[in-house]
Amino acid sequence: MNRIAPDQIETLFRRLLAATRDVYEASPALRDFAAWPTDLAYEAPDPAAIPVLPQIRALAGEGALQAVLADVADHAAWIQTYSEAEVGRHFLDNYGYIELFGPSGIFTSSQCRAFIGYWGQGLYYPMHDHEAEEAYLVLGGRCRFEAAGAATADLGVGGVRIHTSYQKHAMEMRDASMLALCLWRGAGMADRAHLT
Ligand code: ZN
Repeated sequence: MNRIAPDQIETLFRRLLAATRDVYEASPALRDFAAWPTDLAYEAPDPAAIPVLPQIRALAGEGALQAVLADVADHAAWIQTYSEAEVGRHFLDNYGYIELFGPSGIFTSSQCRAFIGYWGQGLYYPMHDHEAEEAYLVLGGRCRFEAAGAATADLGVGGVRIHTSYQKHAMEMRDASMLALCLWRGAGMADRAHLT
């Protein structure tokens, strides 16, 4: 990667935030789910890489958000919730996410939390839950969403899936990878998901 100045990195993250807001504003379901936070404060992340970054960078041509995500990928703190014992090496080699904003986000917020995540084709993200309520917006690819007490839904770009507090849910990337924006709101917003 090219070395660039901290203020240039901040500029890239602010571009990613703006591109994410554009996607959010274009989705009535997301606007209904949570207000855009008003307390965002930039906290320069400690970069952390994941194996799937080349695939994420390769999405750059798919949209404005994907383009700036590719530009900023080397500077982001990429996260994986689970251990190899929980989900296996193949899963960890093909997934990861950033917390764009939230309690421990690149932009801190106590009002709402936003993740941008990638799951490779063929992955099955087994049943898990969390206290916070959740809204997924598919940014790229497809995903089959399963949830306790709800019909299974096969969603493509623009599709939104809501999970209620502690509703068990799973995701299967059968025919394509998925890039998604995921919002959390309410109690438990600072917690992690747990496999059930
Ligand atoms: Zn979830």
